[in-house]
This record gives sequence, structure tokens and C-alpha cells, in this order.
Amino acid sequence: MRQPFQLDAYQTQATAQVVSYQDQRLVLDSTLFYPRGGGQPGDIGWISAQGQRIEVVDTRYSDDRSRIEHHLAEAVDWAPGDRVELELNWDRRHRHMRMHTCLHLLCHLIKDPVTGGNVGAEQSRAEFDLTTPIDKAELEAQLNALIAQGAEVTTEWLPESILDEQPELVRTMSVQPPRGAGELRMVRVAGLDYQPCGGTHVKNIREIGQVRIPSIKSKGKQNKRINVELVN
Ligand SMILES: [Zn+2]
Repeated sequence: MRQPFQLDAYQTQATAQVVSYQDQRLVLDSTLFYPRGGGQPGDIGWISAQGQRIEVVDTRYSDDRSRIEHHLAEAVDWAPGDRVELELNWDRRHRHMRMHTCLHLLCHLIKDPVTGGNVGAEQSRAEFDLTTPIDKAELEAQLNALIAQGAEVTTEWLPESILDEQPELVRTMSVQPPRGAGELRMVRVAGLDYQPCGGTHVKNIREIGQVRIPSIKSKGKQNKRINVELVN
């Protein structure tokens, strides 16, 4: 099932119904909260019902990936069928959206294989198996020029079998997108990047705003870690 956070990353409030609750973990029939995955942290925020407004401290898939679990800061006595109000911590999520889209731009600027990536509200990083050296200042200038120029970001859904025909769509060497859902979510940055991604993104790369590359570090023989920060 396509969840609201996959369809509209800008939705910050919604209602949902409790499916199950156990040990401060709440499962809903649909959710705005992004579950940790693909290098992007799980969302935090608040869920309210019966006059209680409870903090969501993390959102994660269950171990078998069959459910999205909202980790609550305290115990509640909510039961299946109860209506709840969801409220995202938008400040943090929006930074994740800007950062995550920025990492896709790095995938455009650097054609070498991607070995890892991690999105954070303060700092993000992308790792590449570099065949040629890169200049930090030059990369930062290229990145900011792209952002200033702008490009639309859109989502498409393809049959999962596309990966058998076009395995090159996946940029990450070690991490393959999860299979079994039948369809694959593709994120397109118009004219710049197109790859499977379950993450939340801004609508236009201009929204990322100015970025900084504080460091590029060696992590292994060829592997380089590029750290990125939002200026504002
Ligand atoms: Zn992504």
C-alpha cells in the first residue's frame, strides 16, 4: 500500500486509525511518518487521541518489514479502531527532504559508484568509490549552481521487474531496493538524476537552498565520504 508520506511529502497533519498497539509501539492504517530506511531517519512528531498528545520518538519498520511502527514516548491505552490525529515534526522532516534531494544531486555530479549515504537534519553524507580525485570547493560550487538553477522533483512507480531489465537504475552498489511489493518507487530530478528511492524529497531543488561541503574524507582505498550541510 502506498502511504501518504510516499504520495505527498508536504502533508504534515492527518487522521488515521489504530491497527495495533503494544509496548509503546503503535501501528496505524496509514501514516505520514517516514519509517527509517534508505539512509533517511525515521520521522518524529506527535500523535493525539482521547485528549492525550503523545510524542513519537522514532518511526521504524518492524523486523519483517510488514508494519510501520510509531515508537511512542509513553504508554497509552489506545485500542484497535481508535481514531488518532497525526502531526509531523515538520522542521526536522523538511531538512531531511532538502538534504536527501541534495544527495541525489551529488549522484548526478559524481558518476562513480555510490557506496553509502546518510541523511541527517544537521549533516548528511554520501560515499563514492572514486576513480578520479575531486576538489571540495569546485564540487560545492557545482552543487550550489545546480540548486540555484532549479529542477522539478517527481515520483514515479514502475513494476519491480524493471530492475531485472535495467539493473543500472540502482546507483548504490551494496544496497538494493527492497523487493516484494510488486512496484518500485522511482525519484526523478528532471534532467539530472533518476533512481529507485523511497525517501521524501522537495518539489524543486531550489528549495534545498545554499549548501556547504565541510569535508571530504577517505574511507578506505578508493572510498570517499562527502559531508554536506545546509547553510540555513
Ligand atoms: Zn534517495
